Amino acid sequence: MTGGAIKSLIDASYLVVAILFILGLKAMSSPVTAKKGIQWAGIAMVAATVVTFFWPGMQNFGWMISAIVVGASVAWWAGKVVKMTDMPQMVAIYNGMGGGAAAAIAALEFARGQEHSAIATALATIGALIGSVAFSGSCIAFAKLQGIMKKAWRLPAQNAVNVLLALLVVALGVMMVSAGHPQPKLVIAFFVLSLVLGVVLTTPIGGADMPVVISLLNAFTGLAVGFEGYVLGNPSLIVAGIVVGASGTLLTQLMAKAMNRPISNVLFTPITGEAQGGAAIEGSMKEVGGLDAAAMMRYAQKVIIIPGYGMAVAGAQHKVWEMTKLLQEAGVEVKFAIHPVAGRMPGHMNVLLAEAGVPYDIIFDLEEINEEFSQADVALVIGANDVVNPVARTDKSSPIYGMPILNADHAQNVIVIKRGKGAGYSGVENALFYGENTRMLYGSAQQAVADIITHVKAMAG
Ligand code: NDP
Repeated sequence: MTGGAIKSLIDASYLVVAILFILGLKAMSSPVTAKKGIQWAGIAMVAATVVTFFWPGMQNFGWMISAIVVGASVAWWAGKVVKMTDMPQMVAIYNGMGGGAAAAIAALEFARGQEHSAIATALATIGALIGSVAFSGSCIAFAKLQGIMKKAWRLPAQNAVNVLLALLVVALGVMMVSAGHPQPKLVIAFFVLSLVLGVVLTTPIGGADMPVVISLLNAFTGLAVGFEGYVLGNPSLIVAGIVVGASGTLLTQLMAKAMNRPISNVLFTPITGEAQGGAAIEGSMKEVGGLDAAAMMRYAQKVIIIPGYGMAVAGAQHKVWEMTKLLQEAGVEVKFAIHPVAGRMPGHMNVLLAEAGVPYDIIFDLEEINEEFSQADVALVIGANDVVNPVARTDKSSPIYGMPILNADHAQNVIVIKRGKGAGYSGVENALFYGENTRMLYGSAQQAVADIITHVKAMAG
């Protein structure tokens, strides 16, 4: 087969790959088809990689295969051992690798000094900048989510430093593009400052905003990959990059909206995780035992369960489903209410509940279920905190003011399962826990729900 024919065949395969990426992403938008979507995208990724080996003039097969073996082994191992609660940091580090790879492609193109059109050089430079920021920013995000880096560091005049550094990097980029064949010193300075920019942009951001930042950096990575795809003349990289860039941008917007935090606030006036502002809450927390909690739900007509991060950490989803089935058998109507940012990443709760076998038709989003709380006899909050905090509705001085919340406080009775009296992820005290109709069931979610199960079973006998 001639080189031209092979090239056409490769291009045709890239088209199929691009279609599979898009169909895969579409399928991922519903829990029913998500697994299929991930498989399609995976097959497309394998196909794109294999096809690349046949690119006319391709060399260095040994290096390529070694890199694939190392990368695939690490990813396989990580996929098996990383817990669901640690997924955000895994996403952060993989995302960083994507940005780093895009920046490395650009660095290589500059080092080879090959002739490119002005547009290709400009796109390579933009891709290098965004990819480097995504790489170093994602490494910081990983360190923060993993607890390696505990503090949010803010420089004096942080925002001015960010703007100055960004302007400097852009100026160096413009010099590189106008030079055509930039001097190595200029290229090195550009890359170093781009990496520093990623670090200074991310270090002041506190844990509560980190998942939003990861999503934003993910969108950056997509763009960087798309730009480098243009430079390399590789259509599947362009399509994959655009898909990641567009979906990452939409996701960032959705998350920011669900937390009522404009992206500019996340970047320039971050929540540091320490309680800031907010009026003092009056009253006291009232405790309840497993037996009373079980009786309240066993003899209720309608119970709405609100799972949060604590349920995920405790891995209590299977026990929660077992309890739900017992209540249903006793004639109680049980529904699940999911806040868009419950847990530590979008869809976190849905994935856990689906894994435990909870059917999709009893799982509802905030808008679908919020009106129903006033008809519920019991709202059972399991390891959720910020997403049910009514101060978001009432206290203008609170840092979470304006964040849409689940109306658990509108239910006749509220039972909250958590281990102690501590605040939520944002560091804000929760007024719900002090409510007249709220009872606290202290303990780890797994243990507390197991206790309720024992009592509900005893009531049936
Ligand atoms: P929170 O982190 O606010 O609260 C979780 C609660 O679970 C804590 O109060 C903790 O209390 C309790 N808990 C911890 N471990 C256990 C355990 N083993 N058993 C029982 N309870 C436990 O979680 P939410 O889900 O309510 O809120 C999510 C937070 O994450 C929000 O602030 C949101 O903005 C943020 N976020 C989420 C994103 C997403 O996409 N999902 C994105 C960005 C941010 P105690 O220690 O007393 O047990």
